[in-house]
Amino acid sequence: MEVKKQLLGLPSYKPGKPIDEVKKELGLTKVVKLASNENPFGASPKAAEAIRQMAAQTAVYPDGYAAELREKVANKIGVEPNQLVFGNGSDEVIQFLCRSLLSPGTNTVTADPSFSQYKLNATIEGAEVREVPCIDGVHDLDSMLKEIDANTKIVWVCNPNNPSGTYVNEQKFKQFLEQVPSNVLVVSDEAYYEYVTAEDYPETLPLLKEYDNLMVLRTFSKAYGLAALRVGYGVANSELISKIDPVRPPFNNNTFAHVAASAALDDDLFISECVSKNTDGLKQFEEFCDKHGLTYYPSQTNFILIDFKQSGDVVFDYLLRKGFIVRSGEALGYPTCIRITVGSQDENKELFEHLESMLQAAFQ
Ligand SMILES: *Cc1c(COP(=O)(O)O)cnc(C)c1O
Repeated sequence: MEVKKQLLGLPSYKPGKPIDEVKKELGLTKVVKLASNENPFGASPKAAEAIRQMAAQTAVYPDGYAAELREKVANKIGVEPNQLVFGNGSDEVIQFLCRSLLSPGTNTVTADPSFSQYKLNATIEGAEVREVPCIDGVHDLDSMLKEIDANTKIVWVCNPNNPSGTYVNEQKFKQFLEQVPSNVLVVSDEAYYEYVTAEDYPETLPLLKEYDNLMVLRTFSKAYGLAALRVGYGVANSELISKIDPVRPPFNNNTFAHVAASAALDDDLFISECVSKNTDGLKQFEEFCDKHGLTYYPSQTNFILIDFKQSGDVVFDYLLRKGFIVRSGEALGYPTCIRITVGSQDENKELFEHLESMLQAAFQ
């Protein structure tokens, strides 16, 4: 079989290691996964209850239009229902955008390092990927602008950025948006939106009124704790949404995901508690790094990228043996770093003890 030539040599996605696999491999009874930026506190109990209520409804196709969830999200964020497109995770919305806008002869501009799915999906569509190095983990928007030409279709702003956790502020984002040609789509991927505490983080939804070439991505996978269910969405002007909607598979979100996400939207208290615990957790991490002279990237997310000035794989292996799955920076463009999801207070504390032992051993 001959697959598209751009698929040759493309690696399969390497996810954070699953807990059960690590338990089996290393004979551990307790394993904590801090590798994929999942919510360590789970999800609102309302979400599980909504799924229980629907548990018998497996024989019927889901509502392809996601009418109920659509209405709730639209109300929650203050847009019209027809300004939304739902994906099987925001990963799938990234796929819709690439499929709709990119083809051989076109190009797309991303930051590097940034979220891997932009490049992967663009490559599959045969588009050229122009990667612009980050400066101190932050998007270099001026240089990204310079990469835009007549064949550019999409520019990705991962804000806050994964894997660095850093953000582009409101002033810089607005300046950028003003200068991007109106026929180039600017995607603001806000997977960690709920966790952001910086006062000058851009509120992008109001900008949709002014900019027809802006698309905002959000997800239920991170702060909402529904990663297993795969729900994310894009917000843009209704015309753009209706243009890309035909690439969406007819039943791309399942019924259980619809009802759980809808129910989760009713539990603001759960989100605010998780966010506040995350902010405290990030502080714990920063203090730990400061105490041990480790540099880190200031994070607006539920993870932190720390530089250990040694192979990230070595630190990863060390922690794995102690029952902590983190993400090595080697595959993320930061070879001497590891990316760690902020866990519960106890998980963080235990992790710090292991890291302390590792650092002490290194100095003997
Ligand atoms: C996690 C993540 C996503 C995708 O999440 P889904 O589970 O597909 O909704 C998108 N963008 C970034 C930057 C992420 O970190």
